Amino acid sequence: MPAVKDYYQVLGVPDKASSGEIKKAYRSLAKKYHPDANPNNKAAAERFKEISEAYTVLSDADKRKQYDTMRKYGAFGGGAGGAWSGRPGGVRFEDLDFGGFPGFGGLGDLFSSIFGKGKRTAAPEPIEVVVDISFRVAALGGKVPVTIGVTEACPTCGGSGAAPGAQVSTCQECKGRGTVTFGQGGFAVTRPCPACRGRGKVASEACSQCGGQAEVSVNKRLLVTVPPGTDSGQKVRLKGQGQRGQDGRAAGDLVVTFQVQPDRFFRREGLDIYCTVPVNFAQAALGTKLKVRTLDGRHVVVKIPRGTQPGRKFRIRGQGIEKNRRRGDQFVEIAVTIPDKLTAEQEEVLKQFADQVGLKY
Ligand SMILES: [Zn+2]
Ligand SMILES: [Zn+2]
Repeated sequence: MPAVKDYYQVLGVPDKASSGEIKKAYRSLAKKYHPDANPNNKAAAERFKEISEAYTVLSDADKRKQYDTMRKYGAFGGGAGGAWSGRPGGVRFEDLDFGGFPGFGGLGDLFSSIFGKGKRTAAPEPIEVVVDISFRVAALGGKVPVTIGVTEACPTCGGSGAAPGAQVSTCQECKGRGTVTFGQGGFAVTRPCPACRGRGKVASEACSQCGGQAEVSVNKRLLVTVPPGTDSGQKVRLKGQGQRGQDGRAAGDLVVTFQVQPDRFFRREGLDIYCTVPVNFAQAALGTKLKVRTLDGRHVVVKIPRGTQPGRKFRIRGQGIEKNRRRGDQFVEIAVTIPDKLTAEQEEVLKQFADQVGLKY
């Protein structure tokens, strides 16, 4: 039975190490002592266990804080090489809250239940993505394609981690049980065996595609439904559509945050939508009919009466956004344009108009 050592010493970092330093130290040590790189090496397997355990705690800000507190109060029986004491009156392992830490990619199944507490039945952390959607899809609802990176069972080895044709034998480390138990001082911790990753079996040669990890990263494409009247920042949670579950456990969720792209023509205010339509000053003065595009792509004729002033708004009823059985309107705002070039003839006519109403020019 190995004792739980000082995690900082295990990773060879000072106790004030930054999370980046801890990650770097862990990565190089994990690579060096990984069971795949050290087949049938018991000492390396032990070391790998310690490294994994140390990293699980030190890489999580909350757990590290708890660990530091316990360490300060001597809960580890005197620092380097000391075992967890669990002595009466001291801080006990059970007092630590190890719930809810995120997965660690390919080694997630190993780490996620390293302390055998709470995590074995939990789903992976949700995958969160931000997706741009057009103004029209946001307003009317629709579907958008979303691509996420997930891990899946390796197709080459079928999720066993063994190279095709490799000899598979019972794991010596856990005697095929798939779990190992650590304990001293009145409590025991059961966790998946790191040598066989909880499978109880080891292969003579690791699968070359997944390097024995039994899973590979793939892109998963799905169509996400956008509810009508979606605002920027609005989220949908798709249950079980994220990271696949390990060992028959529930899959993780996918959380999509929508970001609505601005439209060149339409703007939105609550359930109403606005658009600005340019009208020549002569049309504004004389009155006209405008063909105005609506959200659903049709055109509606809007009557502009004589003497329409710039900025005046005309309502097209029921052509706004429909949400919760309420429907907004579309407003057409008039922008009056002035010609910047006149022919000699046009200028003559305008001058006549100005003279008639007594304007100087
Ligand atoms: Zn494989
Ligand atoms: Zn094993």
